[in-house]
Amino acid sequence: MIESKQSVLMCQSRLSPKCNPEDARQYMAGTFGLTPTQVDEYGGKNVVLCGPCFFHHYWLDMLQRDKQEPGTAVIVDGVHYVIGPEKSGSFRGFGGAHYTIEFFDGRAVNSTNLWYQGEVPPEFRAQMPNNARFKRG
Ligand SMILES: [Zn+2]
Repeated sequence: MIESKQSVLMCQSRLSPKCNPEDARQYMAGTFGLTPTQVDEYGGKNVVLCGPCFFHHYWLDMLQRDKQEPGTAVIVDGVHYVIGPEKSGSFRGFGGAHYTIEFFDGRAVNSTNLWYQGEVPPEFRAQMPNNARFKRG
């Protein structure tokens, strides 16, 4: 029986300004429901992130996505949405609810496949400014 090593898994990315390196172990265990041994095993093969960095990474990916698929990102009052394809399968954003989106550049888009990603964090607001509003009624 090998005694489990009490190594401290530190955040390996330091992506977020709020990076909390010591939080990584607890975050990995809490999020993925891993035992300390499993966290060690995971950490030996993968990049370990703390909670704030995981969150930061999510938004970096979003920024990348927005650039790769221009015209599909909708940011209203600091909340990020994505317009999905109208001809998609059975899962639709907001249960297929109809939205009319008026972009500040003059485009108007009707969507029944709008997806919600969450509130843009303060450190991303300069790169992800509001770009539209919902037309009411
Ligand atoms: Zn971190």
